[in-house]
Amino acid sequence: MEKYDVIIVGAGIAGCGLAYNLGRRGYKKKILVIDEKEIAANRAHRIKTVFKKIIKEYNLPYYHKYKTLVFASYEDQFKIECEPYSVDYEDACHHLLKNSQAEFKIEKAIDLNSDSLITNKNKYRFNLLVDCSGRAFFVRKKFNLPTSNRFWLAKLMIAENNNNIKTDCMYWLTDVKGYFEEFCPYKDHIAIGDYQYTNKIDFNLIKPAQKLLRHKFLKKLKIIKQSRGIIPNSPHFPLFFKKKFLFLGDSFGNSPTSSAYGSDAILETSKMLSYCIVNNCLHKYEKMWKTRYLESYIRYLALKYDLHHNSAIIKKIKNYPEKHSLMKFFMEYPEMTLKYLKDPGYVIKVPKEFLKKHKSPFIQKVFRLYYYLLLHTRAYLESLRRF
Ligand SMILES: Cc1cc2nc3c(=O)[nH]c(=O)nc-3n(C[C@H](O)[C@H](O)[C@H](O)COP(=O)(O)OP(=O)(O)OC[C@H]3O[C@@H](n4cnc5c(N)ncnc54)[C@H](O)[C@@H]3O)c2cc1C
Repeated sequence: MEKYDVIIVGAGIAGCGLAYNLGRRGYKKKILVIDEKEIAANRAHRIKTVFKKIIKEYNLPYYHKYKTLVFASYEDQFKIECEPYSVDYEDACHHLLKNSQAEFKIEKAIDLNSDSLITNKNKYRFNLLVDCSGRAFFVRKKFNLPTSNRFWLAKLMIAENNNNIKTDCMYWLTDVKGYFEEFCPYKDHIAIGDYQYTNKIDFNLIKPAQKLLRHKFLKKLKIIKQSRGIIPNSPHFPLFFKKKFLFLGDSFGNSPTSSAYGSDAILETSKMLSYCIVNNCLHKYEKMWKTRYLESYIRYLALKYDLHHNSAIIKKIKNYPEKHSLMKFFMEYPEMTLKYLKDPGYVIKVPKEFLKKHKSPFIQKVFRLYYYLLLHTRAYLESLRRF
């Protein structure tokens, strides 16, 4: 039976990113990446939006670059100069794997025990196995561990771009009911996404806003293609299990709330994990992740402790969130917003005037939790209340 130091199950951005980052850190031991289909078999949405930082850092091939992100409600809009790029998911994953030292095989992981993995073709021994199987949750299911309990559902459309709409802006709308709309114009087509947070994988739950942003900008819309996608959207712990198994990417709900940050956060986490593997400090991985992605961790805590159903807390925060609309908040704190959009790991500080009003440490803590949630979107809070 062949033995590998690290086996990575799944060749999406998580698996390929980890293989790449291990190579970049000079890891010389044997690595195997397997995928049941081929590299980046997740084709729910082949085109991904990413920001300049990761294009530069990984020298990723891209096929479209926007100058601006237009953040809009129906009534209002403002522009953020943050240069979103469109990448082809498969090309990006290929690029990372090609520039790694890992071996790649098309095999389906079927079973495992504490030191061996059984695929549809072979049996392997390993020292470490990293689950990058995305929403298939291969290892979690084998060990009956909880999987993500929140999802980011998407209905996707490709329409003809005969609107003369400029191809240098990407558009984003959020509404108070937890609905998101995004559209990305390219030369000959437009990708449109309808998104909603939910804890049930039921696409009928996506309830578009009354006024759609696309109606404002796109006059004649001829839809060519439609598809659907799911992103596990709340993390689950532990990230290091039985001293052998690690989780990375959608397999533990690593994607923050907005689609454009999926790959970004996963690549960033793959860097942390590669550091822990190379330096033999795997016990630090989860702590490092929680510190870096405090906001996602808070989301996990809010769900776990059911903060939004605690009536005392609800009463105390009653007046606060409602007074702020998302747009207003972003406009009040443009620098913070910009930093945050450029770097989802950026830790937002609760403004002092807010803390002055609420002195009890416990209340502050609760407010902070909500504040973080609120920052992602006011709609998120609304949607939490509904469950
Ligand atoms: C509609 C939609 C739009 C999105 N838009 C964006 C965006 O614009 N920007 C962005 O950054 N992110 C976006 N995301 C999020 C992003 O796509 C995901 O967070 C990311 O692709 C997850 O990567 P991953 O490597 O964890 O999982 P995946 O890419 O899903 O890879 C998992 C791999 O594991 C393989 N696998 C599963 N089970 C097994 C098994 N038993 N044996 C072998 N192989 C197995 C699968 O074949 C697959 O290739 C979007 C997601 C969706 C659904």
